[in-house]
Amino acid sequence: MNNEQKTEIFRANLDAVQTRIEAAARSAGRSADDVTLVAVTKYVDAQTTALLADAGAIVLGENRPQVLDEKFKALTGRKIRWHLIGHLQTNKVKRVIQQAALIHSVDSIRLIDAIEKHSVALGLTTHVLLEVNVSEESAKHGIAPEGLPAMLEHCQRLTAVRIDGLMCMAGLGADAGETREQFSLLRQLRDAHRGSGCDHIALEELSMGMSGDFEMAIAAGATLVRVGSTLLEGIERG
Ligand SMILES: *Cc1c(COP(=O)(O)O)cnc(C)c1O
Repeated sequence: MNNEQKTEIFRANLDAVQTRIEAAARSAGRSADDVTLVAVTKYVDAQTTALLADAGAIVLGENRPQVLDEKFKALTGRKIRWHLIGHLQTNKVKRVIQQAALIHSVDSIRLIDAIEKHSVALGLTTHVLLEVNVSEESAKHGIAPEGLPAMLEHCQRLTAVRIDGLMCMAGLGADAGETREQFSLLRQLRDAHRGSGCDHIALEELSMGMSGDFEMAIAAGATLVRVGSTLLEGIERG
């Protein structure tokens, strides 16, 4: 398969996902303009990621800071907005905040304090989401739902970080009913804490939904859906 064929397949897959986003938004009485597709590129190399961008993907999501760095450099000069969607360690913060337009996966005070410190030092404003462990699986990253109020209170003192919203992943092996409950819990948490009076804690975004469940997430209010596998159908991974 040559690059042009791959780009064609990506274009068709992006169209198909966009059509499904529009249908899901319509059935929920929402506008598809309020749902952003984050095309997850973690399964493919920088060269294939570039073809996905050629096919029209603008917001790309990577889950590993190291790979984000490699692709950011390899694809520099393109009209791409990078999102970090996976776990971030404090020693990678300084670089990531210079590359990612949004960090979806902030899950501790230690991490957000490191983001604040480096953002201040570099004169940056960093946009983040707080990851909430809605499935309460002990192996999962994320703030426990009952820990969110304390985290948000801590965030009130930050000056260089914008808390745009919340993010979650449905539990592994959750059935449709459980997944719907988890998405709806994230939305309730967002609604409950919105309008805290702090301009830098907007809590407008809800990042939830992946290939298997993004339509359910849109029904529950997702504004960012993170889709990987479905975009890669018909493409060899590498
Ligand atoms: C891999 C990944 C996705 C995309 O998952 P697919 O099922 O391939 O669409 C979304 N979010 C996160 C955090 C991921 O790591």
